[in-house]
Amino acid sequence: MKIAVIGAGAAGLAALRHCISGTYGDQVVCYEKTDQIGGTWVYREQTGFDRYGLPIHTSMYKSLRANLPKEVMGYPDFLIPEGSVSYPTRTEILDFLNMYCDHFKLRPYIRLLHHVELVEPVAGDRKWSVKVKDLQNDAVAIESFDAVMVCNGHYFEPMIPNIPGQNIFMGKQIHSHDYRVPDFFNSKKVVVMGAGPSGMDLALEISKNANRVILSHHLTETIDTVFPENVVQKGDVVELTEREVVFADGTKEQVDVVFYCTGYKYSFPFLAESCGVRVDSNMVTHLWKHLVSIENPTLALIGLPFYVCAFNMFDLQVRFVLRHWHGERQFPARADMLRSEAEEAARRAERGLQKRHFHMMGPKQEHYYSDLANVAGITPLPLVLSKLHNESSMRFLQDLVHFREDRYKIIDDYNFVQFSR
Ligand code: FAD
Repeated sequence: MKIAVIGAGAAGLAALRHCISGTYGDQVVCYEKTDQIGGTWVYREQTGFDRYGLPIHTSMYKSLRANLPKEVMGYPDFLIPEGSVSYPTRTEILDFLNMYCDHFKLRPYIRLLHHVELVEPVAGDRKWSVKVKDLQNDAVAIESFDAVMVCNGHYFEPMIPNIPGQNIFMGKQIHSHDYRVPDFFNSKKVVVMGAGPSGMDLALEISKNANRVILSHHLTETIDTVFPENVVQKGDVVELTEREVVFADGTKEQVDVVFYCTGYKYSFPFLAESCGVRVDSNMVTHLWKHLVSIENPTLALIGLPFYVCAFNMFDLQVRFVLRHWHGERQFPARADMLRSEAEEAARRAERGLQKRHFHMMGPKQEHYYSDLANVAGITPLPLVLSKLHNESSMRFLQDLVHFREDRYKIIDDYNFVQFSR
């Protein structure tokens, strides 16, 4: 098969690695719009637009350390080397991705500074047309492929809630996508909106510089973790005035900065409508197993689920897709795939989850992994990964300030203890 891989982040590299493996010997081209592999792990001081006029992709900030231990962060058969700290820094992860790339000799297949502008199925031909711009010489080419793996990431298009008064607020409003270093917050009063992993991590980071940090979230209870003294928690922000934020309980606070840590939108600006994939309230649909386009099963979107063992899952998803594309497993009938997606949506709705949580795995991730492995008849991911992920997510919530420290030791396959203070 001739396969296009879009993006050379952790997902695109896994895709490329399995496509070129001896198993299938596919012909493959990986297009990457930036000048480096590594995707969001590439730190760039710049925000806004790059020299080619394209939006900066990465959301990486300077001080970032992974929020998962290294045992969870590698690929199934290419682990983060012993000797690295438990919770790797961003540079260690980027180095690791470069090692992966070299180990599997992926570079010859990657076209850097190639921006995919349009992907569309060719009517009646079972082929894909991929329009790509070579950014260095501004030349546009159209290439034909049998299948496409979309690996463009989903932490680059900020989700900013609509709040009355945003247009009159005189302070600064920024999204975590554009955050790099804390200096900007020196002596400022800041409201951080959102208490996901970024909101929590960044509230803590900027508290060293800011005068006061108000962590606003819509959780019904206060997050039970120890924050520094200048961090307080409040409910939702319902309005902005010229200088103040108004909270759901009617209280007001004067602030200098509104810092949106409100997550990201799934976005596939290069997929033509005829691809049959759309984003509905941040649920990507219609997909079989969060992965394969039901309208056009030779289109796969790698890496959509979140709160997962990311690199491991990318590897599993790619192996799943290739088994089907190469006829070792058959795709179910279209109606059955649609039914399976609708049933999962209904089950999630029953649990009180909204559409935007459709791709959230978290505590249930192991079911997703074992389902993929069983259906495709491929080597499963070790169960211990999900357990480690879930344990460390709990630790993150319980002890935000110290959870990366060595005071926690793994005592058996998946239990941590906090052994000293
Ligand atoms: P990306 O890394 O985003 O790569 C996508 C690539 O596609 C990019 O290189 C981009 O340039 C390219 N691309 C996009 N559009 C086009 C186009 N049209 N044409 C050509 N190329 C294109 N995960 C963890 O497991 N642990 C963590 O601790 C962790 N921390 C994180 C911290 C931050 C701040 C962020 C933003 C994410 C974090 N993640 C973490 C999640 C992280 O996104 C995943 O681990 C993983 O790196 C995602 O890989 P990806 O390949 O799917 O996407």
